[in-house]
Amino acid sequence: MGTPRETREEQAETVIDRLEEAYPDSTISLRYSNRLELLIAVILSAQCTDERVNKETEHLFEKYDGAEDYANAPQEELAEDLSSITYYNSKAEYIRTSCELILEEHDGEVPDTMDELTELSGVGRKTANVVLQHGHDVVEGIVVDTHVQRLSRRLGLTEEQYPEQIEQDLMTIVPEGYWQQFTHLCIDHGRATCSAQNPDCSDCVLADICPSEKGDSEIDLASGDAW
Ligand code: SF4
Repeated sequence: MGTPRETREEQAETVIDRLEEAYPDSTISLRYSNRLELLIAVILSAQCTDERVNKETEHLFEKYDGAEDYANAPQEELAEDLSSITYYNSKAEYIRTSCELILEEHDGEVPDTMDELTELSGVGRKTANVVLQHGHDVVEGIVVDTHVQRLSRRLGLTEEQYPEQIEQDLMTIVPEGYWQQFTHLCIDHGRATCSAQNPDCSDCVLADICPSEKGDSEIDLASGDAW
């Protein structure tokens, strides 16, 4: 097992330094060309890979142009257009009703506050944070997806279990200027090395400071179970 830094703040700082060096171009991997496309891509990405979403949105964004197109689309047709995405029926419904509200309450523009965004169907704090950060340049919190959740726990940055509590905890130790980048760094490292099932601890830039490191530690702190 690696030896974490003395405080969680120092641990967070070292994690960020190392991951920034390893992934200097880390950024969002969803493709979009405006705020509405970003919102739709993020709704679609829940429990689905960004790769699959990007593939599906390639033709979706050509066919539908603006909130009105989605709001007026028949449910079956939109669902059919999303059929390779997980939970495509529900997501089609979220997109349609969100676009209706965007038209009725926000003049067809994607809103720029956490409260207004989370009033849209299928939009929780995580989705809203992504839209605020990348669509409006507003950083109100830390996006906690499955990679951030897993890595933060493995690395001893938090003992919280659920995304909203993890976010609040991380916001006290990750410097505010890194709230956005922290997520992308965790996602890149989670995909490249610290995967859910089989992390490659022997080739990890964080091994010496990671309390879950498989070489010595018997426990995966993300799940609390033995490796
Ligand atoms: S790959 Fe292993 S050593 Fe690296 S962060 Fe994940 S659990 Fe820790």
